[in-house]
Order: sequence, then C-alpha cells, then structure tokens
Amino acid sequence: MAVILSGKEVVEQKKIDIRRRVQQLKSNGVQPTLDIAMVGDREDSLAYIKGAHKALDSCGIECRVSSYPETITIGHFIGEIQKKNNDDSVHGIIIMRPLPGSLDWKMVEETLSPAKDVDCITPSNLAGVFSGLRDVFYPCTAQAVIDILDYYHIDLKGKNVAVVGRSMVVGKPVSMMLLQRDATVTISHSKTADLEKVVSAADIVVAAAGKPGLVKDRHVKQGAVVIDVGINFVEGRLVGDVDFDSVEMKASMITPVPGGVGSVTTGVLMEHIAVAAENICINVKKI
Ligand code: NAD
Repeated sequence: MAVILSGKEVVEQKKIDIRRRVQQLKSNGVQPTLDIAMVGDREDSLAYIKGAHKALDSCGIECRVSSYPETITIGHFIGEIQKKNNDDSVHGIIIMRPLPGSLDWKMVEETLSPAKDVDCITPSNLAGVFSGLRDVFYPCTAQAVIDILDYYHIDLKGKNVAVVGRSMVVGKPVSMMLLQRDATVTISHSKTADLEKVVSAADIVVAAAGKPGLVKDRHVKQGAVVIDVGINFVEGRLVGDVDFDSVEMKASMITPVPGGVGSVTTGVLMEHIAVAAENICINVKKI
C-alpha cells in the first residue's frame, strides 16, 4: 500500500513563508495583487477562480477578476492586457484558457509582460524554462510537481521518469525541469504506441494527460512513485489521470486527487505573485 504524498502538507508549509513575505510587502506599502482575465463564463474557469480567490485571500493577496464577453475583439483584448501590464497596482496576471477561437493566443502571450507572467505563458519565460534559467516564472503546475518531489525528498538523479502528456502547460515544461534535475525522462502522448511498455519501466510516473484513470496498475512498476496531475470531473466527482485504487496497491508513494498537485499549484502561484511584487518593489527603490 502506497504512502500518500499530501499536497495539502506542502502548501501549508509554503503558506507560512508566503504570509511572511506578504506582510513585509504590505509594510512597504505594497498590496500584492493578481489580476485574472476571463473571456466568457466557462464553468471550469469560474471554479478555478473561486478556489484561487479563497487561497489568495487566506494569505493576504488581492485577487481581481476582469470579465470580458466572448464577442470581445482581439484588438480590444490586447489593449486590456497592455493596461494591466502598465498598472503598478497589479503584480501578476493570469489569462484563463481556452480563449474563444476568434482570439489569437499567440498575440495574447506575446503581449503579456514577462515580469507579470506568473504562470509562464510568454515566449521569453518559456524559453527560460527550456534553457534552465532560474530567474523566470516557471509554469505553476510543473513547479508544483517538482516541489512535491522535493518536499518528500524523492531523489531524481539518474531515475527513469515517465511523463504522460506533452502539453506546454504541464508535460513539456515538467519534463525539462526533471531533466535539469538529472532524471532520464521519457515523454509519452496520445500517439505513443505502447504506453504500458514506456510507463512500466519508470521509477517515477508523472501523469498529465487529462484522461480519467488512464494510468492503471499494469502501467506501473512495483514500488514506483506516482504523481497525478490530472483534474477530471466524472459524474460530478473530481478524479485524476491515475486509477488510484489499483495503483495505490502497487506504488510506493502516490499523490491523491483532490489534495495533491492541484493544492500545491495554487501555493506556487502565490509564491510567484510575491516574487513579482518584490521585484517591482526592488526596481522602484533603485529608481
Ligand atoms: P492537454 O489536453 O493540453 O494535454 C494532454 C496531453 O496528454 C497531450 O499532450 C496528449 O498527447 C496527452 N494524451 C492524451 N491522451 C493520451 C493517452 N491516451 N496516452 C498518452 N498521452 C495522452 O492537457 P494539460 O493542460 O496538459 O492538462 C493535463 C491534465 O492536467 C488535465 O487533467 C488538466 O485538467 C490537469 N491540470 C491540472 C493542473 C493542476 O493544477 N493540478 C493544472 C493544469 C492542468
């Protein structure tokens, strides 16, 4: 039976440091603030915002939401992002995805200021992740995976890690970060011919495919560590990409859903907002 790697424990530890830094910022007259831009009213976006709002509030970080109709033009939306870039009271900006097809994502990611890009969508921050720079914002979820592994002292050096999924949000960046920690990384995806063969060879599995219960016990080597990034709603229930009940019997350690990677992701987001606000504070003092 696997040991449960609680994300809640990791985030509680993070919150102690975040609250201290927020207090320090406030005593310097800075109210750390996140602005979330949402086009339309998708249910999953609203649920994410509700969760983020609650978590940020618990650490003294302000969360503003700017809502736009689906009919907004790309010119108008870009103008709105530029306003947020230039607004000194905003330290971090998140743009909810997916955007309606009429809005060109490439134009959006190129407009956002990298200094406020707390979830790493801009080309320059992403380039930093791929080249291993430390002074850029890494994608919150990918960073949360690494933070969980670090918190529980799971050594990555020389380990075989199977990442399931190759998105720019999770799969690719987390693979680069694991590589930077000297892991031997295999990335599988929807066209992988034999998922079982690839994943069952791994010491550590990171599942980020968005397919409920995709990773089953037959995919997992006895004693492997399993990190489940998936967030899927099945018949009103939140489940991961790992078939928890069967895999728990075979893995040595496993993250639960909920209470795993998702909780830590919000913690990483708050750390990034604090850093963005601190950076702005430092730059203002220099002037
Ligand atoms: P995505 O849809 O952009 O990418 C999914 C990836 O999985 C693709 O690269 C695809 O090739 C791969 N894939 C799909 N089916 C597969 C299969 N049968 N075998 C192997 N690979 C397969 O999704 P995403 O944005 O990367 O998110 C992945 C999951 O992580 C989703 O469940 C999402 O909700 C969740 N997520 C969680 C957090 C968090 O904070 N915990 C944050 C972001 C995303």
